[in-house]
Amino acid sequence: MELDLGSLLHTLIPTWNSVAVLGVYFGYLAIAGSILPGKVVSGVTLQDGSRLHYRCNGLLSLLLLVGLLGVGAQMEIVSATVISERGLELLSATFIFSVVVTMMLYVAGRLSKDKGSSLRPHVTGNLIEDWWFGIQLNPQFFSIDLKFFFVRAGMMGWLFINLSVLAKSIQNGTLNQSMILYQSFCILYILDYFFYEEYMTSTWDIIAERLGFMLVFGDLVWIPFTFSIQGWWLLRNNVELTTAAVIANCFVFLLGYMVFRGANKQKHDFKKDPKAPIWGKAPRVIGGKLLASGYWGIARHCNYLGDLMLALSFSLPCGISSPVPYFYPIYLLILLIWRERRDEARCAEKYREVWAEYRRLVPWRILPYLY
Ligand code: NDP
Repeated sequence: MELDLGSLLHTLIPTWNSVAVLGVYFGYLAIAGSILPGKVVSGVTLQDGSRLHYRCNGLLSLLLLVGLLGVGAQMEIVSATVISERGLELLSATFIFSVVVTMMLYVAGRLSKDKGSSLRPHVTGNLIEDWWFGIQLNPQFFSIDLKFFFVRAGMMGWLFINLSVLAKSIQNGTLNQSMILYQSFCILYILDYFFYEEYMTSTWDIIAERLGFMLVFGDLVWIPFTFSIQGWWLLRNNVELTTAAVIANCFVFLLGYMVFRGANKQKHDFKKDPKAPIWGKAPRVIGGKLLASGYWGIARHCNYLGDLMLALSFSLPCGISSPVPYFYPIYLLILLIWRERRDEARCAEKYREVWAEYRRLVPWRILPYLY
């Protein structure tokens, strides 16, 4: 036991190798994000009337990096299995990075004299609270919007961990149907995320949350290292799926995708043009502000329902012999129920009687007839 704990602690100590992997990764993302072409999207209007602008070139940055690493692996310059072999070490290096960078953000925030909405310091005076929740809304580093940068790094990191796990299972000769299903669903989800990266600019995290340890840790450590648990688990466990189970699994994925993407797209289109047709018909709009058609007429957060179905579909390839691969959907269920409550309170405050009318028309929060 002592020996196991000792060796576990040893594997958690980051080597210069993992520091270099992280450094190159962040360096690449900073350069690619700044120079590659991409649609420039205006963020929501902030309290002081200003708007930030985001260059949505995540998909191109990602595909280029996959290509470069693929060529590098072919030429044996980089190892495709490096992440799967150094997972714990990379995790602790990323964790340490998150702590250090948020301490720097804390200091920079405290020193800031900026009066604009995105950089104005929000200080409670409680050191832990200010470090945890952050002081500024959208801090920048050499013109790079750090919040947008970290969420991008985390989502791509999830894909690179998965790809490395895939390479390891091929190397081990254990690649099977479960691993292929899990990998395919995640690849499609992450590619889709970057295809619609501009939708990110109006999400809660970007518009409402300050950049502190909670968000940086969530983006850089939590997303890539815990959302990939199923892949790590499949490396060590063999699962035999029946054809019916495979079909059911694909069905959950496709249905989840349709609801998730459809709902987010309908809201996005509605915000751009409140008259845009929904499912071929003129939309039902409450108080000129809230959409009550399409998915938004079925439940007030159908997009969360779709996301939950997708999360479940990522775990189903692991069968039901262990709860470990179900970490992600269980976590997401708790997170989205909590978030829906917070969003509900925010909208009730913002829209007042219009929201009350919406609640009357659409009584379900996430899952019609159940919740
Ligand atoms: P939403 O995209 O649901 O945004 C909520 C906001 O949308 C509200 O505050 C309100 O903002 C507006 N809104 C709500 N109802 C309506 C309506 N009927 N008509 C018009 N506008 C409305 O929330 P999130 O940003 O939390 O989530 C975005 C996506 O990200 C979701 O699909 C979610 O599942 C996913 N997600 C995934 C996570 C993960 O870990 N996998 C974590 C968190 C989110 P306004 O004031 O602008 O009107």
